[in-house]
Amino acid sequence: MQNKKTHISYSELKDWAHCPHYHKKNWIEKVASFEGNEYTAFGTAIHDVCEKKLLRENIDEAKVFQIGFDKELEKLAEKNIEVNQKNVEQMRTAGPEVLAEVEDALGDYFGDYEVYSSEELLYEEIENFGYHFKGFVDAVVKVGNKYHIFDWKTCSWGWDSRKKAEKMVTYQLTLYKHFFCQKHNLDPKDVETHFALLKRTAKKNRVEIFRVTSGPRKTENALKLLYQAIYNIQKGFTIKNRLNCHKPYPCSLRNTEHCR
Ligand code: SF4
Repeated sequence: MQNKKTHISYSELKDWAHCPHYHKKNWIEKVASFEGNEYTAFGTAIHDVCEKKLLRENIDEAKVFQIGFDKELEKLAEKNIEVNQKNVEQMRTAGPEVLAEVEDALGDYFGDYEVYSSEELLYEEIENFGYHFKGFVDAVVKVGNKYHIFDWKTCSWGWDSRKKAEKMVTYQLTLYKHFFCQKHNLDPKDVETHFALLKRTAKKNRVEIFRVTSGPRKTENALKLLYQAIYNIQKGFTIKNRLNCHKPYPCSLRNTEHCR
């Protein structure tokens, strides 16, 4: 199948880095698409409310969350995707508990901030490749002259220090920062990056925001990987990375007609 794509997102890059063959099946042939589960439904619902809270919309957050969550669960049911009801019940309680802490967590972390953008589209040219980088930046706030990019992440109890520093995880923010600076013609020194964890099973501190550094060396490395991916995708080079068939979870294509 011919690859007619002209843009790449961070999720696509992550899949390519995981296994180029998996990338081909998922993004070019589109035979391996993950269609969601109760975790993604929870993530989408809570993410939407966080966006509204950031924009200081006057809403009943628990109600909006439950409506959004039900809608996402319905979409899964329409696709005949079964969900674990015990998880769903836990999520119904956890959602409003997490949301109740968002405002204070943002205030404690950023102090006096103004919202610069929410769900901002990046569609930036990648020089010399005829490709664009596409992404949605969850939130950008300004404190004084500094821009702070952050991405909401739902998780269970939190992330350990290894996950917080994992190269491929943090490259998302590194690339967002690079292309955000390109779009707005900003000096990278004026932009910082952060993850905001929304913890489903934590008993306290359910919202944790922490900084991820994205300096020149790391940006160079992230871009190198991006260029390598585009080059290989354009050439149609799709090796199987057998080292990752079980990492971090068993690959959904393993032992199927799409990968034997
Ligand atoms: S099973 Fe292994 S080789 Fe096949 S697509 Fe998945 S990660 Fe790649």
